[in-house]
Amino acid sequence: MLLNPFLLERAYNETRKPVRQDARAKMRKRRYNALKKAFERLIENPYINYENGEMLILSDTVTETGLPKFYRTSAKECRLKEPGDCLCRAFWEGYPCWHRATLEIVENYFLIESEINKETKIKTVHAVNSQVSPL
Ligand SMILES: [Zn+2]
Repeated sequence: MLLNPFLLERAYNETRKPVRQDARAKMRKRRYNALKKAFERLIENPYINYENGEMLILSDTVTETGLPKFYRTSAKECRLKEPGDCLCRAFWEGYPCWHRATLEIVENYFLIESEINKETKIKTVHAVNSQVSPL
């Protein structure tokens, strides 16, 4: 699916908010950097592959032989799936990675989107009601 850039920016800002509460300055910085990179990559390439809480993410680096690398990311873990099958290094070391940051932004994106859809529906219903029974 293709992401809307305006919603994407809102989702990015929402995702950044709770980072401020992390008392560890080093971790905060890493989280911000991961989110920034995730956001920039999503702007560059707004086509996402998301299903049931999992995302397939194309790496910004390639293998030694120049082949693309893919990560499979969920709330539980981040894994390099192609080539091979091993945990994402940053994730394995307990650090934030931009793959998981991407997932967080995208999940907030869906929350915001469904909120907007709800609001629109309420407004539409209201408009229809007032047409049917004018005061
Ligand atoms: Zn990762």
